[in-house]
Amino acid sequence: VSLPASLGADEEVIEGGSVVAVLLPLPLEQPYSYHLPETLSVTRGTIVEVPLGQRRLPGVVWGRQDSAEVSAEKLKSVARVHSVPAMSRVQRRFITWVAGYTLAPPGAVLRMAVSVPAALDPPEPQRVLTRSAQAVPEDFRLTEARRRVLELAEQGFAHPPGVLAREAGVSTSVVKGLVEAGLLDSLAQRPRAVFAPPDAGRCGHRLSEGQAAVAETLSRKVTDSAFSVTLLDGVTGSGKTEVYFEAVAAALAQGRQVLVLQPEIALSSQWIERFERRFGVRPAEWHSDLTPAQRRITWRAVADGEARVLVGARSSLFLPFQELGLIVVDEEHDPAYKQEDGVIYQARDMAVVRGQLGQFAVILASATPSLESVLNVRAGKYEVAHLPARHGGASLPEVAILDMRRDRPERLPSGGQSWLAPSLRKAITETLEQGEQALLFLNRRGYAPLTLCRACGHRIECPDCTAWLVEHRQRSQLQCHHCGYRAPLPRSCPSCGEEDSLVACGPGVERLEEEVRILFPEARHLLLSSDTLPGPAAAQDLMRQIQEREVDLIVGTQIVAKGHHFPWLTLVGVVDADLGLNGGDLRAAERTYQLLQQVAGRAGRAERPGRVLLQSYLPEHPVLQALQSGDREAFLEHEADTRERGFLPPFSRMAALIVSAPDGQKADEAARALARTAPRAEGLDILGPAPAPLAVLRGRHRRRFLVKARRDLPLQKLLADWRGKVPLRGGVRLAIDIDPYSF
Ligand code: ADP
Ligand code: ZN
Repeated sequence: VSLPASLGADEEVIEGGSVVAVLLPLPLEQPYSYHLPETLSVTRGTIVEVPLGQRRLPGVVWGRQDSAEVSAEKLKSVARVHSVPAMSRVQRRFITWVAGYTLAPPGAVLRMAVSVPAALDPPEPQRVLTRSAQAVPEDFRLTEARRRVLELAEQGFAHPPGVLAREAGVSTSVVKGLVEAGLLDSLAQRPRAVFAPPDAGRCGHRLSEGQAAVAETLSRKVTDSAFSVTLLDGVTGSGKTEVYFEAVAAALAQGRQVLVLQPEIALSSQWIERFERRFGVRPAEWHSDLTPAQRRITWRAVADGEARVLVGARSSLFLPFQELGLIVVDEEHDPAYKQEDGVIYQARDMAVVRGQLGQFAVILASATPSLESVLNVRAGKYEVAHLPARHGGASLPEVAILDMRRDRPERLPSGGQSWLAPSLRKAITETLEQGEQALLFLNRRGYAPLTLCRACGHRIECPDCTAWLVEHRQRSQLQCHHCGYRAPLPRSCPSCGEEDSLVACGPGVERLEEEVRILFPEARHLLLSSDTLPGPAAAQDLMRQIQEREVDLIVGTQIVAKGHHFPWLTLVGVVDADLGLNGGDLRAAERTYQLLQQVAGRAGRAERPGRVLLQSYLPEHPVLQALQSGDREAFLEHEADTRERGFLPPFSRMAALIVSAPDGQKADEAARALARTAPRAEGLDILGPAPAPLAVLRGRHRRRFLVKARRDLPLQKLLADWRGKVPLRGGVRLAIDIDPYSF
């Protein structure tokens, strides 16, 4: 990637009359040149508005262009300068770096940073409402509608009355009523966030000696104002959050902004409440469930430096922080940090790069660190801090493997198939008798993963993907989990036409819930699966129901695995511990280990000891053995060995090239052309072309090359040259995935 060597001193003013290079938030390799009118002056990083064709777009001044290189008359002019602080030099270098690493066009990376054009200009002052200091009086009827409005106002967003009503989904009369009751104040100001500064001086919990030592180490890393990466490694419940809050406080005390990355932000309401208890205010949030107004206000508050702490999903890494001084990557091992479309990147790894460019501390927290991070610690690149014990002496759950070859499920009273081994059924009964909660974990949405015709053997597949359709019985639908295709559940076989011949094969959580209803009719049960939840608010409510013991038996997918405290949960049954172990995925074993360890960590967090039962047909598998013995080191050792022998990451570097086309023949032709021009070098291993794991996805036929390279080879350069040799025509596309996750 050859961007102008433009990253000189930021302060240098570029006067009107010059020609400037402006990077646009479009998939472009190069900045475009514009003439800067005499009336304007900018610096590098200034966000300007420029014409492009019929449109006007925001762009970032990337540098000065030697006017000899371009004929100035033909140039269009910068239209105006946006009133937002210039993008920092570090941020611009970060964009360039990410583009170079991922082989994405710099403009595409910029688009992630300037994702809210409406935030670039401050809105006009108007009447906005904020939560007043007055508490809700005892005799005030707090209806659901009123509660929603107050909740929104308490989140720190100051909205005009109409917007507040719309975002809360209530009529304006509800809002008016709250103003009259004195619960909302009306002010004339610009709609903005009232992100009050967190109070770093408030005291958190009194830390144990071990926790205090780690907190001290982390805080020192922050105040050193130098680049460092520390792996915060501690079992679930050991106080990692508590401890890194101290590092957050240290950064705030230094006047720096803080970013906390979470893999699934929509579900981290508990985290936000804890933050609020510790720092007295809510943090700013960034995730896909924000309304457009919230996005605009939050983006602006980050750019203006008003939001001091932001908790967000991976995309928040590209927000225009001015004074970022700490990034915490919570659950650093989580696969949700990998972004798979558009710019393909690993947010945990890019957070480390951001820390290096900005010269500050990065904390990676996990109870089951990724093999990469563990090996980086061993190599001396990262430091490590351990929190070995659960806080308050809570013991880790006891884990046992149920060998399904012997412990076979009996039939249901109806004669139907059961998915629960007798010993698991018994354990559930015991748990319920003691008034405690049980969780049945199955990482499979829907009712059944496969629908088969008993008459002709036909399996119902997605018309656009190489994948079976998954039955979702609650919605009477078949769904493709890869492209989102939906169709009503057919009555007869689409292939042979036979009536009532279709059978559901295998279990999904919906089917498991059905079984639970039959076997434990007295138990109050709950299904937790991303697709049966209407939204994040509903998720929060369900989590609360579990915490307050309003349910006895929970059936859930991986959304229950993360971060939540369920004090009454003492039994976890993993219905299919082998799910995820098969398949040619490089990280299959590691991921299964991490996921099951996380799920297991839900059990027995308070005074009540927990136990975990793993149903498996592969009881000898190293992953299951490690879960049972609790010997994580042995597992990591085994995993590192396997990867090293296979010349797999992190012992080599890897990339996937996926060529796709509307039809199979075009895809094959393009793949053959690529194969002919493939680079050759010692230590470079190119496998393929072969059909990609989803050989057809959304109607596109996909062929894949896997590239393994010795770590000292210039992988990006080799790939960029290779890509440049083959012109793509006729709807053929090429995607490059550096450090691919699943294949
Ligand atoms: P982790 O992030 O490692 O899972 P947490 O920080 O969430 O651990 O701590 C687990 C639980 O123990 C939380 O409810 C937390 O408030 C509590 N806890 C941890 N450390 C302390 C402490 N020093 N004093 C009081 N409570 C603590
Ligand atoms: Zn599909």
